[in-house]
Amino acid sequence: MKVPPFSLNEQLSEIGAELDAAVLRVLHSGYYIGGEEVLSFEKSFAKSVGVSYSVSCNSGTDALILALRALEIGPGDEVITTSFSFFATAEAISNVGATPVFVEVDPKNYLIDLNKIEEAINSSTKAILPVHLFGCPVNMHKLMEIAKKNGLKVIEDCAQASGAEWEGKPVGSWGDVGCFSFFPTKNLGAAGDAGAATTQNIDLAKRMRELSVHGMPKRYFHDQIGYNSRLDALQAAILNVKLSKLSEWVERRQKIAFRYHNLLKNLPGLEVPFFNSNLNMKHAWNQFVVRVKEDAINTLPKDKKSAALSMQAINNSSSRDLLKAILQSQGVNTIIYYPIPIHLQPAYKHFGYKVGSLPLTERLCREVLSLPIYPELTEDAQVYVSEQVYKFFDQI
Ligand SMILES: *Cc1c(COP(=O)(O)O)cnc(C)c1O
Repeated sequence: MKVPPFSLNEQLSEIGAELDAAVLRVLHSGYYIGGEEVLSFEKSFAKSVGVSYSVSCNSGTDALILALRALEIGPGDEVITTSFSFFATAEAISNVGATPVFVEVDPKNYLIDLNKIEEAINSSTKAILPVHLFGCPVNMHKLMEIAKKNGLKVIEDCAQASGAEWEGKPVGSWGDVGCFSFFPTKNLGAAGDAGAATTQNIDLAKRMRELSVHGMPKRYFHDQIGYNSRLDALQAAILNVKLSKLSEWVERRQKIAFRYHNLLKNLPGLEVPFFNSNLNMKHAWNQFVVRVKEDAINTLPKDKKSAALSMQAINNSSSRDLLKAILQSQGVNTIIYYPIPIHLQPAYKHFGYKVGSLPLTERLCREVLSLPIYPELTEDAQVYVSEQVYKFFDQI
């Protein structure tokens, strides 16, 4: 059996005809920039997030940049965030001239550790930028309390979390601005790059909109240095079709995640992702990320352990890399999100972070593995994936 980490084939056969019609409608309308499709998407997306305004743009990265700029965060300012995320989270902060400050993650859910935020605050700190990583919502209730107490702005990175909620309130509606990506593999994916910033604040919405169109409040009058960052009408038309499916897709992702949980929860050496159904949260499961403990091999009985160690020596790789390779040989393709933490990326070497400065983040980068997940993944495929994981732990 072959199981891809992500697939669009099933989705295309389900709604392909509607997508074709939407694309052709835009193509023949001659309205390629702005227009009805864009306006209607912004309106529906704002509604789905439970906010008054949604400003569409070119990408999730641009949404973060527009949010930071609209909040007047720039050179000399610090923004508290996490190093365990996609690079764009910190890159956006750097691109507006501010400095990302990385706080260690919470060992329970791998999200920014709320108990460590306050130690990182100083007189230059302007904002907190939490990431709802893999679709798991940060405890926004608590985070907003910390922000309020310290007079900080909050920008939510919701790129992986379309459809997630904390205490019944969608992510992207808690902070000053919520930043969404519609990159094809996200929960709500366009057919190319696309993004949006959500807010309840009319002034922020206006500023972000102007910045996204060359800092231009009226035609050919520019009062700020902005960007060319609009959502294409073609992408808006595609997103209009897909948005109506989002909640059903997230529900299917939840079912798949619960099934993986049940199939995999009893393996020593493997940690299934945090989920607590007693907490008032809705996880959007963009990724199902297991953790293959570095010392997984040491927990094995002696006879199996020596075989495993020799296998590891031959492959010169970690338990996680070994599992990934074995799954691949059985047709199961997995992805590592993320192999290198942001603070240790060459682009940030001038910050001088040493290996060991964020030990848990670094350890996660050596141990995480994303199993295949997408709304149409079948139960058979999941059982197959789990069997291969079991076989690996049995073998080693
Ligand atoms: C995808 C992603 C982004 C960037 O979104 P793009 O649309 O690709 O620019 C930012 N942050 C996180 C956490 C992401 O996963």
